[in-house]
Amino acid sequence: MVITEEVLAKLEKIREKCSTCQKCDLYKSRTQTVFSAGVPNNKLMLIGEAPGYYEDQKGEPFVGKAGQLLDRIFGSVGLSRQQHVYICNTIKCRPPENRDPLPAEKLACREYLDAQLEILNPRIILLCGRVAVNSMIDTNLGITKLRGQWFDGPNNSKMMPIFHPSYLLRNDSRAKGSPKWLMWQDIQEIKRIYDQI
Ligand code: URA
Repeated sequence: MVITEEVLAKLEKIREKCSTCQKCDLYKSRTQTVFSAGVPNNKLMLIGEAPGYYEDQKGEPFVGKAGQLLDRIFGSVGLSRQQHVYICNTIKCRPPENRDPLPAEKLACREYLDAQLEILNPRIILLCGRVAVNSMIDTNLGITKLRGQWFDGPNNSKMMPIFHPSYLLRNDSRAKGSPKWLMWQDIQEIKRIYDQI
């Protein structure tokens, strides 16, 4: 699917609606909503957790240290947010002190994520970290068990849980079997499927 003006207009309409949202209490403490980054496309979408301090300041997902690592991970297989990936979060406002989003906040914000998924209809969806996984897959298993596996996603898409880059920043080893090493395996598998679509 080519990303048409119509698709972009639909996204813009929902982004505007989101920008003034007051459906949960997070609007009281946010600087601004954080809707998306990267390129709207129908091949590859990454769903993260929630905006942090820098994202709230800039209005763009994954611009802090974790985001820089994410860019390097994509870059290692020739992918970039400028050309290949649409990036968003489970919720669009920063939770105070970066706490986990509350179930009510996730529920209130769900219409925006659902709209992003429906409008773009991405073939590959990366679930970055536990919060994103729990939003899209009904499971009690942790990210360590789930990462690297493909799951059926909305509309015949493929979803893969991956480690959150913040977790990788806390685990510096690159030894075989370490989180960074596993991420390297996963991004190569993601690129393999990306190239087939
Ligand atoms: N962590 C996330 O999950 N999302 C961001 O946008 C930034 C950090």
